Amino acid sequence: MPLNFIANEAVCSSSGQTLPVIDPADGQPYDTIERSNATDVDAAVRAARDCLDRSWGRLSAAERGRLLMKLSAKVAEHADELAAIEQRDCGKPVRQARADALALVRYFEFYAGAGDKLHGDTIPYLDGYSVLTWREPHGVTGHVIPWNYPMQIFGRSVGGALAAGNVCVVKPSEDACLSLIRVAELAAEVGFPAGAINIVTGYGHEVGDALARHPGIDHISFTGSPRVGTLIQQVAAERHCPVTLELGGKGPQIVFEDADVDAALPFLINAIVQNSGQTCSAGSRLLVQRCVYERVLERVGHAFTTLRAGPPSMDLDLGPLIRHTQLERVRSFLAQAQADGIPTVAQGRIVDEADATGYYAAPTLLRDVPPTHRLAQEEVFGPVLAAMSFDDEDHAVALANSTAFGLVAGVWTRDGARQFRMARRIKAGQVFINNYGAGGGVELPFGGVKSSGYGREKGFEALLGFTTLKTVAIRHG
Ligand code: NAD
Repeated sequence: MPLNFIANEAVCSSSGQTLPVIDPADGQPYDTIERSNATDVDAAVRAARDCLDRSWGRLSAAERGRLLMKLSAKVAEHADELAAIEQRDCGKPVRQARADALALVRYFEFYAGAGDKLHGDTIPYLDGYSVLTWREPHGVTGHVIPWNYPMQIFGRSVGGALAAGNVCVVKPSEDACLSLIRVAELAAEVGFPAGAINIVTGYGHEVGDALARHPGIDHISFTGSPRVGTLIQQVAAERHCPVTLELGGKGPQIVFEDADVDAALPFLINAIVQNSGQTCSAGSRLLVQRCVYERVLERVGHAFTTLRAGPPSMDLDLGPLIRHTQLERVRSFLAQAQADGIPTVAQGRIVDEADATGYYAAPTLLRDVPPTHRLAQEEVFGPVLAAMSFDDEDHAVALANSTAFGLVAGVWTRDGARQFRMARRIKAGQVFINNYGAGGGVELPFGGVKSSGYGREKGFEALLGFTTLKTVAIRHG
C-alpha cells in the first residue's frame, strides 16, 4: 500500500480514497495507491518551497551533486528490487526492467557531476560596466510522468532539475508509480532534505491538472501524450508558467539500397519491439528504397515470426501492454488495417504460458501502408511496424517528414554525404545514422519538434532548461 511521499514522509491522501494497481500480465489488482487531489498537491508544493528556502536552495552545486551521487549508488544497490517492482507494475520483461533501473543509476550519476559545471558568461558592454549572466533554478518544478518508462523519465527530468538547484513535485502515472515512491524513500535514506523530492499519486485530471494550475509551481516538465500536453500547456499559459513538453512520435527507420541490412536488422526490430512498442521514440515506420523493399521485408518478416510475447518473468522479446484500453487500441489499428486491405507480412506469437486475461499483443509487420493512412500517421503505441517503399532521397525525406511528429529518426546508408544530407533534412530532435537509439543515451539531448513537443531533456542541455538566465549589469562608480 504505497502512500504519497511528501517531506520525506509516507502520507495518505486527503480524500482517503485509493486506486487499484493492476498487474498487466493477468489483469488482476494486487495493491493500491492513493487517489490524491488538489489539497495533496498543495501540501507537496508547500513542503517543496519550504525545502528550497531553508535547505536545498542553500546548498552549493557540489553539495547537491554529492547527494545525487549517493542516490545513484543507493539505486544501484537496490537495482534488482526496483526492477522487480517496475517489472510487475508495467509488465516489463526482466532485461528491460533491469535496463531501466540501471539507466536511473546513470541519470543520477550524470547529473551529479553536471550541476557544478553550469555557469554564466561575462558580456562586453559599455565603458565602465561589468555584465554577467547567472543560471538560476526555476524554484519548485512539477514533473508529470507517463507509465511507459517511469524510472528513466524520472531520472532524466528530476535528476536534471535537482542538479540545477530546483526541488520537485512529481505526479507519476496512475498506471505505474510504485518504483518512483521507492526511489523517493531511498533519496530520504541517503540524506535528501525533506521536501526536495515529493510524490503525489492519482489521476491526471485530478492531480496532474492541480499541479499545472498551482501558483507555487515555477516550471512544468511534462512527458506524455500530445492531447494532455496541449491541456497542460493551456493551463500553464494562464499564469505564464514555463513548460517542457516531451510528447509522442512516429519514428521513421529509413533503409537505402546501400544499407548494411545485416547490421540494421536487430535495430529495425528492437526499435519497435522494445517495451512492446510503448516507446515515444519507437521506430514504428519502416521506409525502404524500392529496389531492396522485397528483400528487406523478407528479412524483417522472418525476424518477426521468431518474436515471442509472454509473461515478464520469462524475459521474452515482449511483455504485456500496460492496460486493457491500450490492447484495445492496438487491436483497433490492426482491425482497420485488415478492413482497408493492408497486407500483414508476419506476426510474432503469444506464448501458451501467457495468461489469457493479460494484455498481450503479438508483434505485427504490415506492408504497403499508404503514407496518409492513420497507421502511417498516428502513434499506435504498440508493437506494430508499418512498412512502405520510397524511390529516392527526396521521396524518403518527404515520407519521413510527412507526419505531425518529429522526435527520432534512423537512417541506414553507407554513403557518407547522404548521411549528412539526410540528418540535415529530417525534421526530428534526434537522427541516428546506421543505428537507432530508441531513448538510449543519458548524455544525448532528447526532445522533439512539431507535435513531439519542445524543450530538451537528457544530456547537459537539459540543465539549461531547468534554469532561468539572469543578466546582471554593474556600472562602476
Ligand atoms: P498521458 O498523456 O495519458 O499521461 C501522461 C501523464 O499525464 C500521466 O501521469 C497522466 O496521469 C497525466 N495526465 C493525464 N491527464 C492529465 C491532465 N488533464 N492534466 C495533467 N496531467 C494529466 O500519456 P501516457 O498514456 O501515460 O503515455 C503515453 C504517451 O506518452 C505517448 O503519447 C508517448 O509517446 C508519450 N511519451 C513521450 C515521451 C517523450 O520523451 N517524448 C516519453 C514517454 C512517453
